[in-house]
Amino acid sequence: MFIDSHNHITPWSRDALQSREELVTSAKNNGLWGVGISDHYDIGSYTPDGLEWVFDIRDYLQSFVPYKKTLSEARKSDELSFAVGIELGYLPEYEDRLKAIMEEKDFDYFIFSLHCIDGACPGDAGHNFYTGSLQEDHERALEASIKGLTQFPDVHIFAHFDYTSRYAPERKSKMLYKDFPDHFDRLFSLLIEEGIALEINTGTIDYLRRRGYEGLAVFPDEEIIKRFLDLGGELLTISSDTHGPIHHQRPIRETLEFLRYCGVKRLAYFENQKAYTHPI
Ligand SMILES: [Zn+2]
Ligand SMILES: [Zn+2]
Repeated sequence: MFIDSHNHITPWSRDALQSREELVTSAKNNGLWGVGISDHYDIGSYTPDGLEWVFDIRDYLQSFVPYKKTLSEARKSDELSFAVGIELGYLPEYEDRLKAIMEEKDFDYFIFSLHCIDGACPGDAGHNFYTGSLQEDHERALEASIKGLTQFPDVHIFAHFDYTSRYAPERKSKMLYKDFPDHFDRLFSLLIEEGIALEINTGTIDYLRRRGYEGLAVFPDEEIIKRFLDLGGELLTISSDTHGPIHHQRPIRETLEFLRYCGVKRLAYFENQKAYTHPI
């Protein structure tokens, strides 16, 4: 199988409903080789109750660094590897604070995310991100991703590139390569040059399925994956982005099969801020 680097646990992620132990048990049952936690750190974003999506970095590291286990250590003892990451939600006004967190050497990896763009959050109905056509809204997100990643070349994983397709008002909301070839080429060139992994997020696949996509159409556009490979992309991850037991059924095996079908030969994982890959 592979290592799933993108998961959330309580109380660190405000929307999570699982403990570290529950996550590890479920991952073991699903046949994964290892898991990583990547709790939400979204400076300047608030829950409806007014709580900021941040936590104490020192407490977090102290709580979980003792559980760190590399894949080679794990294999000796027939256990799962365990890594400590964080999902940094990018907002341009907090670049300095986010960069300060990236000074912490105990993290295995930094996941770069855009949950809000220009003050509007696609996942939050009240913020009304979707003000243009579907194509305009997708384009705005891709443009913001490229801009943000340009400022953060030292991150390790770029999460859910297709986040805006999850919540768009249009039912058929999937992002297609043919609609944004220049954006995808710029994005992929940047990822490849900086050694940042492209994440295939099964959370988005789940959303597409609920929107009526079927068969292979539930997965990201094949052309997107193939273009990434054609440009020389070698670092790809599959994430289940679990927040609780309800997500433990996400289609990780099917996504693995889909990537094989697209020509992907290896998947990436990160330990002590170094990239590794294994064949699939
Ligand atoms: Zn996210
Ligand atoms: Zn996440």
